[in-house]
Amino acid sequence: MAIIAADIEWRQGLPYSPLFKEFYFPPSTDMDESESVFLQQSELKQRWQSLGKNFHSFTIAETGFGAGLNFLLCSDLWLNTAPKNSVLEFFSAELFPIDKAELAKILSQRPHLCTLSNELIKHYPVPVPGIHNIELFQGRVKLHLMFGDANEMFSSISQSPNQAQAHHNRKPVDLWLLDGFAPISNPALWSSDLLATIASLSDQTTVALTANIDRKTISTVSNNLQSAGFSVESYENNGSPKLRLKASFVGGKSQQSTSDNSSGPSQWHLDKTVRPISLRDHEVAIIGAGIAGCTTAVALAKRGFKVKVIDRHALAGQEGSGNSQAIVYPKLSPRDDVLPRINLRALLFASRYYAPFWQRGLGNQCGVISLPENPKIAEDFIKISQRFSGCDDFVHLLKNDQLCDRSGISLNSPIGLFFPLLGWLPPAIICQQLLEEYRIPLMNIDIDHFNHQQSDNRWNLIDTSGKLAHSTDILVVATAYGCENFEQTNFLPVTQLRGQISKLPAKAKTKSLKTIICGEGYLTPAQDGYHSCGATYNKGLFSTELRAEDHEINIAKMRHTDPGLDAALENLDASNMEGRANFRCTTKDYLPIVGPVPNFSSMLKNFSFLRRDARTDSMVMGDYQPNLYINCGMGSRGLSYAPLTAELLASQISQQIPSLERDLVQGMHPARFLIRDLKKKQL
Ligand SMILES: Cc1cc2nc3c(=O)[nH]c(=O)nc-3n(C[C@H](O)[C@H](O)[C@H](O)COP(=O)(O)OP(=O)(O)OC[C@H]3O[C@@H](n4cnc5c(N)ncnc54)[C@H](O)[C@@H]3O)c2cc1C
Repeated sequence: MAIIAADIEWRQGLPYSPLFKEFYFPPSTDMDESESVFLQQSELKQRWQSLGKNFHSFTIAETGFGAGLNFLLCSDLWLNTAPKNSVLEFFSAELFPIDKAELAKILSQRPHLCTLSNELIKHYPVPVPGIHNIELFQGRVKLHLMFGDANEMFSSISQSPNQAQAHHNRKPVDLWLLDGFAPISNPALWSSDLLATIASLSDQTTVALTANIDRKTISTVSNNLQSAGFSVESYENNGSPKLRLKASFVGGKSQQSTSDNSSGPSQWHLDKTVRPISLRDHEVAIIGAGIAGCTTAVALAKRGFKVKVIDRHALAGQEGSGNSQAIVYPKLSPRDDVLPRINLRALLFASRYYAPFWQRGLGNQCGVISLPENPKIAEDFIKISQRFSGCDDFVHLLKNDQLCDRSGISLNSPIGLFFPLLGWLPPAIICQQLLEEYRIPLMNIDIDHFNHQQSDNRWNLIDTSGKLAHSTDILVVATAYGCENFEQTNFLPVTQLRGQISKLPAKAKTKSLKTIICGEGYLTPAQDGYHSCGATYNKGLFSTELRAEDHEINIAKMRHTDPGLDAALENLDASNMEGRANFRCTTKDYLPIVGPVPNFSSMLKNFSFLRRDARTDSMVMGDYQPNLYINCGMGSRGLSYAPLTAELLASQISQQIPSLERDLVQGMHPARFLIRDLKKKQL
C-alpha cells in the first residue's frame, strides 16, 4: 500500500537520484534543445496541427513520470497546436513519486513552463497508490498519474491480461514515451515483460520513443522492443554518446500466442461483438437527471457526444439527488479490498471534481470529521491513519482537543478521522448547473420502456402514454432503482431503500459547528439556521411522507455518536420537524452498477458451465445489449461515486482506456452478479 517517495539529492544544482545513480535531467545547459529533439522525433506538432475540427483524443503513455517534464512539454505543445475541443490523455507510471515541495523546486528551473507547472503542482495528487485522474488546463489535458510499478499499472488498465484482448474494442495508445532511468540502473522499466504489456496496448498506428540510451545497453532494449513486436530505428542525438530509439508497432508473436489458448483469465466483462472505434458523432440519451445521469452527460459531452438527458421531472435532481445538503461521505478501510479501493478512488476524484463548485460558493468544502462508533472502529481509524501517513491533506487522525478545535464544538470522542478535502453540496443545484454549463438539454418524459430497432441500430424510447418519445444511437439508464421497470435491466439485484433527513434548528452550541460530523449518522454545519441530519434506512417503506419517528432516529444517532454532541443538541422536538424523505438505490455488495448492460438470457446460457465448476477460467466473452449502458446503484454515497462512475462509463462508451484498474472496473460491472450467482449455483 505504502508509496515510497523519491529520494532526491541536489548535486551541481540539479536533482539526482542516489537510488538510480543518475540525474533526473542531464547536467547540460542546453536543456531545451535536448527536450525538443524528443518531441520533434514524434512529429507531434504536425499530427496535432492537422487534427480536424471534430473531437479528438490522443493518448500518450509514459513509463516514468519523474518531475513531469515530458508531460509539461507535451501539454504545452498540445495546447498550442491541437483544436480546443480535443483532449490529450496522458498516462504515466511512477513507482517513486517526487514529493510536492521537491517537485516545485525542480520545476522552478524551467521558468518558461511556469504557468503549466504551477497548475500541475496545484493539482499534484496525494501519494496514494493507484491511478489519479487529474483534469488540467480547462479540461484540455487529462493526466492519469499511476503511482505504482509500471508493468503492474499498465497491465491493470488493459482490458484483459490476455495480451490479444488487452485493447479489445478500445483505442490503443498512440505514443509511448519510454523515459525512465537508464536500462543499466533501472532494468524494470525496459524489461521484456513491460515491453510485452506495452505492445499489448498498441496497434499498427502506435509509435514508441526512448530517451537517450547508452550504446552498451541499446541492443538489449532494441531486441526487447523487437521481440515485443516493434520495428526499431536508432538515432544519433547531436553528437551525444547516447542513442535514441524510435519503434513502430508492427504486431508480434506475443499478441497472437495467448489468443490460441483455450483457457485463460475470465473474459465475461468483454463484449464479444467487435465495435468500430469512434461513435463520437452519435447521439446519446440518458434516462435520469440525478447526480449519476448529469455527471455522465457532462463526461460524454466533454468527449464530443451529442447528449440529451430525459427525466420524468421538468428539473434535474428531484428524487434521490434532491436533498439540500448532501455529503461527500468518506468510507475507508484498513483493508485493501475492491470496495475500499473504489471508495478511496471515488473520494479523491470527487474532491477534485467538486472543487470548482465549492470555489464558487455552492456548498462548502468544510471538511468531514468521522467519529468512531465503537472501539473496533476506533482501532480501524488508527490503522487507516497509519496507512495514509504522509497523506495528511487527504486524511489524518485528530485527538480530542484537535477535534474540538476543528469542529468548533465540544466533543468527547478521544479520536476521530479528519478529511479536509471533503464537504457538502446541494446536489439538485449541482445537477442543474452541470446541464446548463454544458448546454445539455433536459427532456421531460416519463419513460415506460425502450426497445432496440435492429434495422437502424437505434433505441426507441416509449413514454407512459405508449407514444414513441425519442430515438437514439446510444442509451444510458441512470434511473436509480427505476432500472427494475425495464425489461433489459430488471435482472439487476437493486433495492429501493427509503431514507429521511431531518432539519435540526441550530442551537447556541451547534451554531459554531464548522465541519460535518459523521458517526452513526451525520450532521452538517448550519445553513440558514438549520443543520441537515441524516439519514434513516427504511426497507420496504415506499412513502415520501415525513415521519416523526424517523426524525427521532436521526437525532438519536447523533446523540449516540458523541456525548458532547448530545449536550450541544439540547432538547429537540421531532413532532413538527422539517426534513425530506426519498429513496436510495442499493446493491448487494454496496458498489454501484456501471458499464454495458448484459444480454441476460444469452449470458445465462453461455456461462452456464460456471454452475458445474466455478473455477473454470474460460475465454468466452460476454454478450451485451448493443449500445446500452447503465450507471446506478449509488446507495448512500451518490455524491462520492457519481463523478468517478460517470468518467468510467464515458471512457467505456468512447472506447478509451479508463482511469481505473480492471479489477475495480469489474467490481462495478453490471454482469458481476450474474457471474457470481452462476458460480454459487443461485441461478
Ligand atoms: C435521505 C437520503 C439522504 C442521503 N444523503 C446522502 C449524502 O449525504 N451523500 C450522498 O452521497 N448520498 C446521499 N444519499 C444518496 C444519494 O442521494 C443517492 O445515492 C443519489 O442521489 C443517487 O443518484 P442517482 O442519479 O443514481 O438517482 P436519482 O437522483 O434518484 O436520479 C434518478 C432519476 O431518474 C429519473 N427516472 C427514474 N425512472 C424514470 C423513468 N422511467 N423515466 C424518466 N425518468 C426517470 C428520476 O426522476 C430521477 O430524477 C442520500 C439518500 C437519501 C434518500
